[in-house]
Amino acid sequence: MNYLVDNNGYYGDFGGAFVPEILHKCVADLQDNYLKIIDSESFQKEFHKLLNDYAGRPSPLYFAKRLSEKYGCKLYLKREDLNHTGAHKINNALGQILIAGRMGKKRIIAETGAGQHGVATATVCALMNMECVVYMGATDIKRQHMNVERMKMLGATVVPVTSGNMTLKDATNEAIRDWCCHPGNTHYIIGSTVGPHPYPDMVARLQSVISAEIKSQLMEQEGRDYPDMLIACVGGGSNAAGTIYHYINNPRVKITLAEAGGLGVYSGKTAATIKLGKTGIIHGSRTYVIQNEDGQIEEPYSISAGLDYPGIGPMHANLAKEKRALVLAVNDNEAIKAGYELTRLEGIIPALESAHALGVLPKIKFSPNEVVVLTVSGRGDKDLETYLNYNADGTKK
Ligand SMILES: *Cc1c(COP(=O)(O)O)cnc(C)c1O
Repeated sequence: MNYLVDNNGYYGDFGGAFVPEILHKCVADLQDNYLKIIDSESFQKEFHKLLNDYAGRPSPLYFAKRLSEKYGCKLYLKREDLNHTGAHKINNALGQILIAGRMGKKRIIAETGAGQHGVATATVCALMNMECVVYMGATDIKRQHMNVERMKMLGATVVPVTSGNMTLKDATNEAIRDWCCHPGNTHYIIGSTVGPHPYPDMVARLQSVISAEIKSQLMEQEGRDYPDMLIACVGGGSNAAGTIYHYINNPRVKITLAEAGGLGVYSGKTAATIKLGKTGIIHGSRTYVIQNEDGQIEEPYSISAGLDYPGIGPMHANLAKEKRALVLAVNDNEAIKAGYELTRLEGIIPALESAHALGVLPKIKFSPNEVVVLTVSGRGDKDLETYLNYNADGTKK
């Protein structure tokens, strides 16, 4: 069984490139060129130099002793929270801006929800002297004031989007509209393993540095290059894709993914796309989507802005359907409790997204020698105000 993309841009039944006619050439150009560019020696050299010297890679693989004792396994944390700009998103942004430059593009657009991808994109645009326009829902602009100011300070133009719920899905629609108007000179840096082919595969490859490092770091620390289980949270799926990439076709390695249960999977306030989603098309790809009986996309909800998306990457939809991955929903209060627990046991304040990955630990029965690698996708500074509304046991203050 092959769980990576096939030659037509599909993962089983999921994926493809469903784009308006005007974008067809743009997407086809990217499909024709991305592998040639990524596989070239000059790209690899420049990309890895930036990952190391600019983003601060390799990120540590940290053996979490106290958390291991608590859950009865050998738990390692892959510390993406220690990257420049505070999360894994910089890996993808650096890779895509190098690809855009090699394709002769002069202008970069991006969508952002919480602002993390917007900040990563504005950062690499400053670095590479490219024009940067970030679409962001007006609701999110209000909620994420600090990231908006960071993007502006970095020289980006932040465009408020006032359609729909004024959140991530609407910002993505607006970015696609911009791309349709400027297909020649503009590259659209999508922030996750979503969108039309080749984006899910391109983003997964750029993030695969995470599992490449896990392999050599485990070899050093455990004497074997694979764990028994990998754990990551999924919004669109990019930190998870990077974590599992080099193990995806190795059946010895179990994969557990955490999606956002919100107030509860059946509460109507949730982002548990895999649990609830039905096959549909969103932002250029066929995947699971939270939709009503008429096929209208429903508004998702999660305490964590980075997981608050009504779709899921096509790679992950296929992993769930084929039962290659176990997908667990973690509710807001379970994530908060897990975030406090990591803070108190290991001195690491995780992003609320990453806290969802930690929230699966109490739901799994481990054996004592089991080697588990869990990706801490980002740091929690941005989420302090939210954490402070709750007690350490996850109940509301
Ligand atoms: C954006 C974000 C996520 C969710 O995105 P994925 O593409 O699913 O990884 C998770 N964690 C952090 C810290 C983020 O910023």
